[in-house]
This record gives sequence, C-alpha cells and structure tokens, in this order.
Amino acid sequence: MSQQSMRVQDYGSDPTSVRETGKYVEEYIQPFVDKWDELIDWDARAESEGEFFIQKLKERGAKKVLDVATGTGFHSVQLLKAGFEVTSVDGSAEMLSKAFENASRHGFTLRTVLADWRWLNRDIHDYYDAVICLGNSFTHLHDENDRRKALAEMYATLRHDGVLIMDQRNYDALLDEGGKPTHNYYYCGDSVRAEPDYLDPGLARFKYTFADGAVYYLNMFPLRRNYTRRLMQEVGFQRVTTYGDFEEEFSDSEPDFLIHVAEKR
Ligand code: SAM
Repeated sequence: MSQQSMRVQDYGSDPTSVRETGKYVEEYIQPFVDKWDELIDWDARAESEGEFFIQKLKERGAKKVLDVATGTGFHSVQLLKAGFEVTSVDGSAEMLSKAFENASRHGFTLRTVLADWRWLNRDIHDYYDAVICLGNSFTHLHDENDRRKALAEMYATLRHDGVLIMDQRNYDALLDEGGKPTHNYYYCGDSVRAEPDYLDPGLARFKYTFADGAVYYLNMFPLRRNYTRRLMQEVGFQRVTTYGDFEEEFSDSEPDFLIHVAEKR
C-alpha cells in the first residue's frame, strides 16, 4: 500500500523496537494528520504561548524565518499574521498540504518546501534570520548522527547572526521522576489524551487517544535538556538559553516543555 493511502499506523509486532529517524513519514498517516488540530487546538495554543516566539524573534530583528517543522502550520500562520516572511518546511507531504489548507483559510498562501532536515540544504538555498523547530519535533530523530546532521543543516541556513528556536518535552522529568505531562501548553485540545505509553533512555512512545476512540502513537527519542544544549553548542551555536514553559527561571522537574534559543553569534 502506498504511504499516501495508509490508514493505520504500522509498528510491526514489536512496536518499542521501532527507533528509526525516517519513521515519522509513516507515523503521520492521513487520519492522524486530520486529527492533529484537535490535538493542538490553535486558539488555546495561541493563548498559552502569547507573544513569546514573536518577541524572541523581534528582539533579534529577525524578519525572514524558516519554519522547519511546519506540521499543520500553526507557527507559520502565527508568524505570517505578525508580519514575518515565512518559508514552511516539513518532511511529511500530508502535513504540508494540511498546513497549506489551514493557511489558506487564514488568508495566506504558504510558501512550502518538502524536505527532510538531514538534507535541508539540498532544497533550501537561501539564508534566514531565524529557524524555528517547534512542537517537540526534533525528538523524531532517533540516531545521534541524524541529530548532528540536522542541526548542522539548520545552522548552515542561518545568517551569520541568526537564531535557532527549538522546543522539546521535558524528558528529564519523565525519565527521572515518571512525571505525567499535564499538556498545559502545546497539546491543549480538551478532548485528547497524550500520555507516555512506554519509556526507556532510548525511546519515548506516546499514545494519543481522541474523543471518538481513535488511538495513534509516536515513537520518539527522549532528549535530555543538557544533551540537546550540548549538541547545539557542538555544531557551532555560541550561546544557548533554555526556557521552561516560557520562563527563564524554572525548577528541573516543573516545566512540561523546554525552549532552547540558540544564537549563532
Ligand atoms: N510544529 C508542528 C506543531 O507544533 O504542531 C508540528 C509538530 S509534529 C510533532 C513534528 C513535525 O516534524 C511533523 O510534521 C513531521 O513531519 C516533522 N518532521 C519530523 N522529522 C522530520 C525530519 N527529519 N525532516 C523534516 N520534517 C520532520
């Protein structure tokens, strides 16, 4: 069956052994993509994020932004509304076409590029003031080489004083304390439950249960905060500032989400 027509996720007989970077393309099957906006609820998300990302970009004078994890288009549309020039990348054709549709409904024609981060510079030949990679997306990379390669490709598409803004779940809290995500920030749809189904140092398998009983999974790599920060520094970012649920001061276990702002200069 072609990927486009797949209606069910397929993790084989041993789902927790599936730890491949390229798997995301098959995980985001059309029915899951169609439900994604129920999961993230655009209005609730806009309210909880406020102006955080817009402010961080404006503080640095950024105008031209590459959204590398477009998904269904939430951040691309928020930034277009705020007057930024946005190019929207994703490695999933299903996600990108949903994003295009969503943006049209908001009156924008999305500039989309279908590309995998590991080979981003094959398709992106321009320089940007900022790259954003949001919604716990970097966690899809299961292999350390892929994480390094993807970060290097993002670094390369930034202008000399550019910034990468990347977020992730607070996996340290999950791994160390078995804390349950409260999904206060990103996954705010009331009718959806997002919970860890399986966890070990190399895999966080999340289960998403929707109001109509539909269940989907995502197999992700549980990124520890200092590990992500170190990788960013190793590819060349000079300063990495990490926020916890949008606050600069936070305790290790408290935030659901961490946001890294990595500066090239
Ligand atoms: N940013 C969106 C949001 O917050 O709703 C989408 C988040 S979704 C968890 C992760 C997105 O990253 C998916 O759309 C997926 O297709 C994309 N993605 C994951 N790995 C990728 C890769 N290696 N290259 C390009 N896109 C990738």
